[in-house]
Amino acid sequence: MCEHGRVRPRLKYVLKGDGRLGHDLDPDDRSPKDACGVFGVWAPGEEVSKLTYYGLYALQHRGQESAGIAVSEGSRILIYKDMGLVAQVFDESVLGTLRGHIAIGHCRYSTTGSSVWENAQPTLSSTDVGGLALAHNGNLINTPELAARLEPGTTRATTDTEVLTTLLARDGRPVEEAAAELLPQVRGAYSLVFMNEKTLYAARDPQGVRPLVLGRLSSGWVVASETAALDIVGATFVREIEPGELISVDERGVRSRRFALAEPKGCLFEYVYLARPDTTIAGRGVQVTRVEVGRRLAKEHPVEADLVIPTPESGTPAAIGYAEESGIPYGQGLVKNSYVGRTFIQPSQTIRQLGIRLKLNPLREVIAGKRLVVVDDSIVRGNTQRAIVRMLREAGAREVHVRISSPPVAWPCFYGIDFATRAELIAGSLSVEEIRASLGADSLGYISLEGLTEATTIPENRLCRACFNGSYPIPIDQDNVGKYVLEAKV
Ligand code: SF4
Repeated sequence: MCEHGRVRPRLKYVLKGDGRLGHDLDPDDRSPKDACGVFGVWAPGEEVSKLTYYGLYALQHRGQESAGIAVSEGSRILIYKDMGLVAQVFDESVLGTLRGHIAIGHCRYSTTGSSVWENAQPTLSSTDVGGLALAHNGNLINTPELAARLEPGTTRATTDTEVLTTLLARDGRPVEEAAAELLPQVRGAYSLVFMNEKTLYAARDPQGVRPLVLGRLSSGWVVASETAALDIVGATFVREIEPGELISVDERGVRSRRFALAEPKGCLFEYVYLARPDTTIAGRGVQVTRVEVGRRLAKEHPVEADLVIPTPESGTPAAIGYAEESGIPYGQGLVKNSYVGRTFIQPSQTIRQLGIRLKLNPLREVIAGKRLVVVDDSIVRGNTQRAIVRMLREAGAREVHVRISSPPVAWPCFYGIDFATRAELIAGSLSVEEIRASLGADSLGYISLEGLTEATTIPENRLCRACFNGSYPIPIDQDNVGKYVLEAKV
């Protein structure tokens, strides 16, 4: 059921939903959550809301709490957003109402602000001269400083994204001018797509922490978090949006301006887990990199075993690489229920107690009596891996050797990935041997930071590796971490 909210002469804001929260079926699921996926399109004559829907569908892995699309046909912005997966939020009839030639879309996992409808994106801000809709992937670290510029009582902004949207729109100035002035003062990670009634914009922070790429359609242009989203809508990859670059897209084509010098520090964790395997970063396929990491992992941490199995799906490429390098046969020992994940039905206690089995089930005939190498992408709190080791032993595994295709995650991320606090990260306080004992594994080996970095072929000084080594490329005042979250202060 739809509920119509504020209606302005040139702006209609469509509200739907009741702010429901999603539930993870598996209480042990503590995998890292990405901040968001963003998508934008400028394409006269195309069904831009459907292109955006499919773009978001391709980016669903980057955020599963809420989804939204904003469109404009040149005179007004219409937004539709709700809690849920992209396919739960949109259907044919909703997309049919979202007509225009410009659209932006967003799928969200919350990093600042709580997981409620009000914080779903795109966000919207309007003045007498028009509206501005914005979608953000990343996390700002000077939000309170930015929010202090807003007049008290002029906004109910509770997230970094809403503050940014309000600041960009507030004076009714040309958007490009406002963005070129504001963005150099914004600190943190941001890959943005935004639009007014006539123009699509995209911008990336000077460090380029989060990805953002430009693609070409026969009838226009596309921007997206990952190249896989370009492929799915039939766009050809043109280039990455440069760190510190702002682009504007309208009937005059694509215009680019630089608002800050580029100091590239791309997120290393994109290669480990966040990006889709069929995405390309800096000209190199993510799948190729992950297989190479698995090969290096086998060299760094060899073991006598009968079978290499992945924790599906994220451990699969590295397990293939490990098997290739070690000569140990590769097999499927765990079956994933791909359709289990976030649900909007509150699980019963009985269902919750099933834990990891809701997502993974062992193949007993494959596992029984074997010495296994189990390859996973990362360990955050350790709950999932502990449950997997236990499950494999119950299924008859003789030995369980855990191999991880990232170094220990020992530091939190302030640039848009919701791992945990340092105290919650198992590698924040325990040694590798202590973690092995905690998991109940026969052995445990992590790829080295050098090995992972070399596998990406990106020089280490162009990467953010802070969650592995605590060296934050955009300085963080760790004593005041709490201040980076804005709690409905304006
Ligand atoms: S801290 Fe880790 S997850 Fe966060 S941006 Fe840096 S490499 Fe990526």
